[in-house]
Amino acid sequence: MKKVLVLEDESNIRSFVVINLKRAGYEAIEAETGEEALAQLRRNPDIKVALLDIMLPDMDGFEVCRRIRASDSQIGIIMLTARTQEMDKITGLMTGADDYVTKPFSPAELTARIDALYRRTGGGEKESSAEISQPPFLLNTRNQTLEKNGQRVKLTPVEYSIIKLFMEKPGQALSREEILDTVWGRDYFGELKIVDVNIRRLRIKIEDNPQKPVYITTVWGYGYKWGF
Ligand code: CA
Repeated sequence: MKKVLVLEDESNIRSFVVINLKRAGYEAIEAETGEEALAQLRRNPDIKVALLDIMLPDMDGFEVCRRIRASDSQIGIIMLTARTQEMDKITGLMTGADDYVTKPFSPAELTARIDALYRRTGGGEKESSAEISQPPFLLNTRNQTLEKNGQRVKLTPVEYSIIKLFMEKPGQALSREEILDTVWGRDYFGELKIVDVNIRRLRIKIEDNPQKPVYITTVWGYGYKWGF
């Protein structure tokens, strides 16, 4: 059974989410507080996707996200944000979330997002070719890992997908739309801005100087290029 953590302190929203997840074939692991969510993740290491509400009684959802990411770069994280919390989306993505869903959301939208993230994190379809080497980077597509100068760079599933796309198309300008379509899927409901936020975070992880990126360069008014 595919497990999804649902962290939401409002019981009516939580039940709504849980019912719809069950209908879509997921097993929902529920938590009402940040501490409870972290405990559930320790108890259920096979949880592949976590839905995190932001306003919680003990700590905010960003803190939960940060703590999860401190030990787990593989799990998919979706923040549940209120419509007015525009900044929250950005903050959430910068703390390591892969996606966000704005309340109120439809069950179809939520499960589409979870399905998409699950496909990326599940690693169900293993590929035969194992490595792409572009010094100083080495991408292992079997383990879904990236090394820079022999040092492992911890990536979220979304960051990994972006790097993989870049390394498969070195020196090619990729439009933000193309990156969004390839990484998030054509049925994605979100905005182009999510591409920029993830690129910003990736630069912090892989560039020697994120202010003056040389690996991921900006193609003004268009998108990005893997600078090889
Ligand atoms: Ca709440």
